[in-house]
Amino acid sequence: MMQLLYIIAFLSLSIKSQVFLPIEISDRKDISKLKLSEIGAFGLVRKPRLNIPEHLHTGIDIKRPNKNFSDEPIFPIAKGKVISVRNDGPYANIIIEHEFDNLKFWTLYEHISGIKVKVNDFVNPNSAIARFMNKEELNKNGWQFDHFHLEVLKVKPMPLKPIKDYPERFFKSYSLVCYNDHDLNKYYYNPLEFFQKHIK
Ligand SMILES: [Zn+2]
Repeated sequence: MMQLLYIIAFLSLSIKSQVFLPIEISDRKDISKLKLSEIGAFGLVRKPRLNIPEHLHTGIDIKRPNKNFSDEPIFPIAKGKVISVRNDGPYANIIIEHEFDNLKFWTLYEHISGIKVKVNDFVNPNSAIARFMNKEELNKNGWQFDHFHLEVLKVKPMPLKPIKDYPERFFKSYSLVCYNDHDLNKYYYNPLEFFQKHIK
């Protein structure tokens, strides 16, 4: 009996500490399979636009890995708990809290659709949480959103009071308030470096 408990404890520990790529590819541990969009690198300067000053890109923009324009799935990169969902239009997003190996971190998935999870749901890397926008949604929102934006946060996102239109939006990220490398490194991991370190 003790032995069985040890085995179970060991298995759950080793499953917990695994990180995977968030897209559907044959080997979700093969980082070379991750393709970014043209201006999708971490830390790039993003030009100012209406009401948004120039800022640094706080995540990476991941390309659709297959030519699936109806249901291209997005998975969490690790086990965790959903803490916020914004379920509308091109800025829809999910924020997940993770903890393993004494490391606490948060991930954000944005420009997504078909959200399958709710706040307080426990998620794992084998089950899709959303999908890339489909053709109809891209025609409506613009093809610049033909990717999804992934962030890996070092600190807890900013708490928000949910409003009627977004009843499950309890947090927002620091996406638009990083103006220099100091801000960026304070709040964020470079997702590619994070994968290199934690995907084993
Ligand atoms: Zn982005």
